[in-house]
Amino acid sequence: MGHTQFFINGKWVDPIQGRQHEVIDPATETVIDRISLGGELDVASAVAAARKAFDTWSRVPHEERIGLLRRLIEIYEARLEEMASAITAEMGAPRTFSLKAQAAAGLSQMKVFLAEFERFEFEHVLGPQAPDDQIIREPIGVCGLITPWNWPMNQVSLKAPPAMTVGCTVVLKPSEMAPLSSMLFAEFVEQAGYPAGVFNLVNGDGAITGEALTRHPDIDMISFTGSARTGAAISRAAADTFKRVTLELGGKSPNIIFDDLDVAAAAARGARGCFSNTGQSCDAPTRMLVHRSSYETAIEAARLVAQEVQPGDPALEGGHIGPLSSRAQFDRVQAFVENAISEGARLIAGGPGRPEQFKSGYFVRPTVFADVTNDMQVAREEVFGPVLVIMPFDDEDEAVRIANDTPYGLSSYIQTGDLERARRVARKIRAGMVRINGAFRGPGSPFGGYRHSGLGREGGRWGIEEFLEIKAVAGWSNPAT
Ligand code: NAD
Repeated sequence: MGHTQFFINGKWVDPIQGRQHEVIDPATETVIDRISLGGELDVASAVAAARKAFDTWSRVPHEERIGLLRRLIEIYEARLEEMASAITAEMGAPRTFSLKAQAAAGLSQMKVFLAEFERFEFEHVLGPQAPDDQIIREPIGVCGLITPWNWPMNQVSLKAPPAMTVGCTVVLKPSEMAPLSSMLFAEFVEQAGYPAGVFNLVNGDGAITGEALTRHPDIDMISFTGSARTGAAISRAAADTFKRVTLELGGKSPNIIFDDLDVAAAAARGARGCFSNTGQSCDAPTRMLVHRSSYETAIEAARLVAQEVQPGDPALEGGHIGPLSSRAQFDRVQAFVENAISEGARLIAGGPGRPEQFKSGYFVRPTVFADVTNDMQVAREEVFGPVLVIMPFDDEDEAVRIANDTPYGLSSYIQTGDLERARRVARKIRAGMVRINGAFRGPGSPFGGYRHSGLGREGGRWGIEEFLEIKAVAGWSNPAT
């Protein structure tokens, strides 16, 4: 109890303008910790430390910074269990999932970055047509990192390690709903021996702390992951000071199932993907589009999965799902479910309210709706809960049209026995990512979306380039005459 300090300039310090905030365990609805929400002066103090540190840190040889990343990875790996426990406590992911997916995702992102850094070219000649032009990649400066609660360490690991390793300094503001994992990450950074001011953490809310960070004139870049609504607000607030803004936002990803493969197996895989992490993943396959000839087969397969994937106590080991992460999220998901019913969607499994076995906690029923039309709220907006919608299509063109009829464009999924068709449809989908027949994305594959799903890409080489400026020097090898 009592994580009320911030990590600024290499020290844990008391807030200047702290407001108290309770961290709630979503499985029990009890207070498990207290943090402070920082004010403008706390942000200013962290930014000043980061600005001062940038002058020296940006000139440290790359090998030294890469060495510190290697050390950070060792510490993270050694303390993985602690990280998993923090994530379970703050956002309700069950133990096994926290360890093997949530905490592990952060580790794997950092390992991929390390491998990329070992071969990354920070300088090169423009090309054979311009041998005297040198292209130099330099750190952009002081970065404000704003992260959500749903994959807390995955998001932090996609931002802080590449930013720091290219020579940027950072101020992290994690979600106020899931701050404990980030505070533990700050301990890892401290233990690794990064110089003071390179990494700073200020807890806080969006309206005051996040806004202060976004407007601060000494911040060069905001890297944000969260909702589309907040992404738009951040873009507006950052405009006056010409910050670079990268946005990883929400999704309503289509999962197109053709009738030329085992439809029941493909639909079951899709439903499991939708319910994983209690539906709180931005790239979840939430809109299942099924060829009309196999429509009822897919619905039945999804119904069986909804029955099988029951919520359970996050403190227990196992493959169950946990509660939603907060009261606000619980109320929001209930409203979506009720609205879908009133709009005429056919309820196949789940529905409103808590599962009977729970008297408290933000647990919800894995829910499946069929006969959804793409203009219903539940098909257009991100629910961020275990709610799957299923709709039929008659041919490939119609499937692509429905898939692309969304403001989002984060991920997409195609299930077919015809590889030619899979590739054709993959090219037509307007989304940053496509997964064919359940294939996993490889390590270092760029993560990000089109349209309302964001700006920029994270992970691997792309996630390094986001934090770099490009300098073009002409006359690099021209002696003065
Ligand atoms: P959110 O937008 O409510 O909050 C995200 C972060 O922004 C929090 O730290 C919050 O305090 C801060 N914030 C809120 N208002 C702000 C403001 N005006 N100025 C500055 N900061 C502000 O999102 P959330 O509910 O925490 O997370 C869920 C959302 O994140 C979903 O939409 C999900 O799809 C998205 N997400 C996207 C990705 C991706 O990579 N594309 C990954 C994970 C989550």
